[in-house]
Amino acid sequence: MVQPRTNRPNKYRKDGKREGRGKYVPKRKVCAFCVDKVETIDYKDVSKLRRYMSVRAKIEPRRRTGTCAKHQRALAVALKRARHLALLPFTPAQFAPAPVRQSVIATAPAPPPPPPPPAPVPQGQG
Ligand SMILES: [Zn+2]
Repeated sequence: MVQPRTNRPNKYRKDGKREGRGKYVPKRKVCAFCVDKVETIDYKDVSKLRRYMSVRAKIEPRRRTGTCAKHQRALAVALKRARHLALLPFTPAQFAPAPVRQSVIATAPAPPPPPPPPAPVPQGQG
């Protein structure tokens, strides 16, 4: 007799089926480019390409976007072209506008007081 390694309640019923919400069945993702019958991915279509880029400005993997292998290869080339033309960032720091960190503001020294107004130039000389 094999003893269970944990004392958690057995979530398997006598007939071997699991109780609860049932088996996790992931929703089958479909390649958006195949649906639209896209032959070539336009590297100038920044708004579309940006969806395939993470917040860290990295190219999203296929398992997250559902893009097929053929279109993922074309997409990667298009994203890299867009980066080269500065349409898309290489790093998150290049996302415009640059975020201003609160800690920088808090630790920054106070600006120097404005200089006194210049003394009036005496008239009648020269
Ligand atoms: Zn596809």
